[in-house]
Amino acid sequence: MSKQSSRPDGRKHDELRPIEAKVGVVEKANGSAMFKIGNTIAIAAVYGPKEVHPKHMEDPEKAIVKCYYDMYSFSVPERKRPGPDRRSTEISMVIKKSLLPAIFVKEYPKSAIEIYVSIMQADAGTRCAAISAAAMALADAGIAMKDMVSAVACGFVNGQAVVDLSKEDEDVEDTTDIPIAYMPRKKSISLMQLDGKINKEQFKEAITLGIAGCEKIYEVQKKALKDKYASDHIELASE
Ligand code: ADP
Repeated sequence: MSKQSSRPDGRKHDELRPIEAKVGVVEKANGSAMFKIGNTIAIAAVYGPKEVHPKHMEDPEKAIVKCYYDMYSFSVPERKRPGPDRRSTEISMVIKKSLLPAIFVKEYPKSAIEIYVSIMQADAGTRCAAISAAAMALADAGIAMKDMVSAVACGFVNGQAVVDLSKEDEDVEDTTDIPIAYMPRKKSISLMQLDGKINKEQFKEAITLGIAGCEKIYEVQKKALKDKYASDHIELASE
């Protein structure tokens, strides 16, 4: 089968959109990150570990993790009504579930870790961009982690397995969209959703592309974290 692209934006089937990533973008947060993939931009801010309010919600064994995903009104072509809705509530839960296996929650009994992710601009793949940004923000906050979490959607567009679906990809008829989150060192998937139809062989083909995409994203996340500490080191050295 030809691997020439039939995608609306002419990308190769295994090609991610251009990525930019940066940590330490929200000064007052304990940790923060920006993750941009194509025209999708996510900003994550982490607060904690901190006291739990109300106190009766605290867990003597481990940290409780709260996650809030929000899409700005003007992040999409048609103004979105501000505030939480069913979709954002579901995505908040999905992001939290994808990050939990990577956090050493037992290191922080009776504490809360709060993760806020805002989508400034949406062009599909916002839950995956949110996860990639949030994992970097957790690491930036110094939260003990078992692994990074890297996320991207894979699937089928025009009968071809592809990675990192844009809105144009998603709008092609009969597209299958499979967002995945992946822990690169454990080689373990912490999120998988499926929208569309797919058979077993196609599924394997798409997931292989998705994992390869997550591994590329992992390299970008690591570089962004290292870059921050490299520049901190220069500042300290010049003091
Ligand atoms: P994801 O962003 O994780 O792919 P969805 O599949 O729910 O999640 O959304 C796909 C895309 O559809 C979004 O990234 C965004 O570009 C667009 N979209 C989602 N909600 C809205 C909305 N209320 N108005 C306009 N576009 C939206």
